[in-house]
Amino acid sequence: MLTGSEIRRKFLDFFVQKGHKEVHSSPLVPQNDPTLLFTNAGMNQFKDVFLGLEKRDYSRATTSQKCVRAGGKHNDLENVGFTNRHHTFFEMLGNFSFGDYFKKDAIAYAWELITAKEWFGIAKDKLYVTIFEGSGEPMLVPRDSEAYDLWLAEGVAKDRIFESGLKDNFWQMGDTGPCGPCSEIHYDMGPAASDQGHTDCAFPCDCGRYVEIWNLVFMQFDRDSSGKLNPLPKPSIDTGMGLERVTAVLQGVISNYETDLFTPLIEKAAELTGTSLARELENEARARSAASLRVIADHSRAATFLTSDGVLPSNEGRGYVLRKIIRRAIRHGRLLQAFGAREAPKGSLKPVSLDPRTFTSFSLPPQKPFLHEMVDSVVDLMKEAYPELVDTSRQVNKVVYAEEARFARTLDVALEKLEEFIENVKEEASQQALDYIGQILNASKRSIFEETRRKGNVIHVQEILTELVGATAANDLLQRLDERVRSILLAGDAAFRLYDTYGLPLDFIQDACRDARIGFDQAGFDRAMEEQKARARASWKGAAKQTANPAYQQLPKSEFEGYRQTRSDNCEVLAIIRNGQGAQELKPGEEGEVILDHTPFYAESGGQVGDKGWFYSDDHNTVVAEVKGCYYPVQGVRAHQVIVKSPPSAKNAEGWGTPVIRVGDKIDAVVNTDVREATMRNHTATHLLHAGLREVLGKHVKQAGSLVAPNHLRFDFSHFTAVEDEELQDIEDIINKEVLRNRKIETIENVPIDVAINEYHAMALFGEKYGDKVRVIRIGDFSTELCGGTHTAATGEIGLIKILKEGSVSSGVRRVEAITGEGSLAHFRRDHELEGVVSSFVSPHPSKIAKGGAAGSEDASRETISPADALKAELEKKDSEIKRLTRELDQARMKSASSSAANIGDKVKEVKGVKVLAHRVDNLERAQMRTLVDQLRDKIGSGVVILGSASNGNVALIVGVTKDLTSRVQAGKVIGPVAQKVGGKGGGRPDLAEAGGKDASALDAALDGAYGVVEGLLA
Ligand SMILES: [Zn+2]
Ligand SMILES: [Zn+2]
Repeated sequence: MLTGSEIRRKFLDFFVQKGHKEVHSSPLVPQNDPTLLFTNAGMNQFKDVFLGLEKRDYSRATTSQKCVRAGGKHNDLENVGFTNRHHTFFEMLGNFSFGDYFKKDAIAYAWELITAKEWFGIAKDKLYVTIFEGSGEPMLVPRDSEAYDLWLAEGVAKDRIFESGLKDNFWQMGDTGPCGPCSEIHYDMGPAASDQGHTDCAFPCDCGRYVEIWNLVFMQFDRDSSGKLNPLPKPSIDTGMGLERVTAVLQGVISNYETDLFTPLIEKAAELTGTSLARELENEARARSAASLRVIADHSRAATFLTSDGVLPSNEGRGYVLRKIIRRAIRHGRLLQAFGAREAPKGSLKPVSLDPRTFTSFSLPPQKPFLHEMVDSVVDLMKEAYPELVDTSRQVNKVVYAEEARFARTLDVALEKLEEFIENVKEEASQQALDYIGQILNASKRSIFEETRRKGNVIHVQEILTELVGATAANDLLQRLDERVRSILLAGDAAFRLYDTYGLPLDFIQDACRDARIGFDQAGFDRAMEEQKARARASWKGAAKQTANPAYQQLPKSEFEGYRQTRSDNCEVLAIIRNGQGAQELKPGEEGEVILDHTPFYAESGGQVGDKGWFYSDDHNTVVAEVKGCYYPVQGVRAHQVIVKSPPSAKNAEGWGTPVIRVGDKIDAVVNTDVREATMRNHTATHLLHAGLREVLGKHVKQAGSLVAPNHLRFDFSHFTAVEDEELQDIEDIINKEVLRNRKIETIENVPIDVAINEYHAMALFGEKYGDKVRVIRIGDFSTELCGGTHTAATGEIGLIKILKEGSVSSGVRRVEAITGEGSLAHFRRDHELEGVVSSFVSPHPSKIAKGGAAGSEDASRETISPADALKAELEKKDSEIKRLTRELDQARMKSASSSAANIGDKVKEVKGVKVLAHRVDNLERAQMRTLVDQLRDKIGSGVVILGSASNGNVALIVGVTKDLTSRVQAGKVIGPVAQKVGGKGGGRPDLAEAGGKDASALDAALDGAYGVVEGLLA
């Protein structure tokens, strides 16, 4: 039996042997089609070839194309896992003819591949084919008799050829453009495949028994804008065969999920979630739990391939679809883990709620992240056909793990909130229910009921009611009660908050309500959702890009000459914009924008800033304006932002105040080459940096934004963790080596975009819109990028590239800043100067001292200690010295304060029989003052001590009263008036009070006055 991988290989080999070029799958994110969310067909990467906009050096191709369908028109995410053939990620095998062979060969190839013994060898009696039956007004397309005859000629029986209409058998690219009839090949899976239990239905019953395996599109017509179909001069072929389907056919299984493209993943999912496929299949007869395994298998493929192609989980666009897929897989993993923790259902006992779609995760055991491990299994299974998966597997694993962790946190918070909401609703419901019962009982019974209730015995409502009104009436009452409780709903707007803010899936909420036997306010939820959408639309409108100023819309494009030169002579002024309006002239000193017919000025784009420079008058000698920048107001139009110079002398040829720049003037446009060259160095360095990051960190690194300015460069890229210092150094080493190799920068112009991506393997900015023809910048085999910027001729011109910093921009996106050329020199000079300063402060070889001057160690020590380390050691030494000195100073001050207090005898005054001491001790800490107050209180035995200290212009006061006096004099009352004199206030306990003040000059007087304050209190 052929494996899925062998089938893929055989398909490609068959067409290679028929003269087709094997082209690698394009990425899942379409390179050049903003209308498409994800690549969803093999022909996507050849669209422009079919449209005649692009030429390739081959006219036949075959591919195995990665595809994703989820979100948008084909949103069938909810079905995936519950059917045999729905997938988010799938592979589309195809053969393509670009005006080469047509129907005859396409049909012959298809029939040979699927029926020949040495290829797929499918029995002919299992096959059916369809052709287009033709259509009347308004399309008017004839029946595809040609295809009919060709199928007959291949030996297909007449009764096996069916005809079908526009819906199934006609294909069109858009409202206009290529279109044509199709032929499909269907396979009879047998009655067992019928979803509706049909035992002998005939083709084309759509019960699941007959499966389309290959669609051949014959691009025969070109529809013009009037709707008319004109025959294409060179008709083309585009076919698509779903690998998963044809594998199911060739492996003799009904469901795609039973093929070896999925079974290893399903087994892994079972292992990781603690169950087994056999057990889930057994359960499946009753519920649908094996669906969870299929969901995980399918979604882990989509998550792995999408993340590998650069999509990150987010709340919008492609990232939102990825997040939905990952979270749905995680949810199903949780369900399985919950089952695993329960007893397996026994006998005929019906499990309470085994259907994963109705099971809630309340009280689920703690969950183990598992999906990131599925990533590794997907990579193992698919790496042969898609080697790019190997390069990115580490990053993909990390991204999925982070999303699992994030979702787990979200669920924990949200579920707690949900439980709280539900509890509140239940409480209210039971309250209302009891009130209701109370109301419908007659007065005497009501009072008995109320009495029982008051006693708190509400659990036995049924018993009480039976006692009161009899069993039948009680049952009837309870039934009505139940209905009433169910009419109380979980508010839709509250539910929406959980859904919107916490990302709790709607079915989680609905199921939880069902389990709690309360209603769910679906209408309110829908309303809240609508309001949210309306708000989003309103804010989107506000944020939408302004349409171009009408003044710019009719302007001609300027020819750009700046790749080859920095000066263009005799440029004609085509238009002038002043204050947003078209103008005829700009006067001296005025600012405005000037459009030229040709120019060497680079307009800001692709991260590179616009050029600066000057306009010279037609004498080629006089500067008429300074150009401060250049940008695109609309695509293709280069606007020079200028300020017109005043004439150098009092008069020019036409006298004062005459216009200096007028529409129709000829000027010379001259770029400031210093600025341009510095910018170019940084741009080429950016390409080296990008390649260096990918080499050191991994191929998952993709550009997420950049700024190329003359004085520095900034590069944002996808990466999940901080870049280690050693990694940064490796990157610096690698890219500076490329500089020293002085590699030539090669520019290849007018390359078709798909050739650039798929054949040159040029790196393109993710999701960026490029033209049909692109410019490729190649630096040896080190870097190849799509780029419209200006570059140095060789890497040696860049000079030293120095990375200055690395940091985070947002989740999963890092930023590196770097400098080159003269910037690096200036930086190096500053560092060198600093080094000089450092060495004048620190001993040149501290390690020599440490080693005790061992013989011959001088050279070694010179190497081992860098100026930075020496400075650090010196500063640490100084720091501990300062700490030690501060400590010593404090001690010395305390000592001197204490000893000065030893001679305070003459300052102690007797006031109405109480000893009072007011004393000044400067530069003491508060803690020291407290200690001193204690010492002095002890010394005088009984009395009042007032201390004041000034330090740095601030005053600290403290008053202590011995315990025996606190009934007569309170410290808090003493300190108030004293503090007031130094501009402060304070208070405290009767025995101790503290205060601060701002007027140090008044401290002496305040202390002198303190005796009087105490005297007043004693009076
Ligand atoms: Zn049927
Ligand atoms: Zn570039």
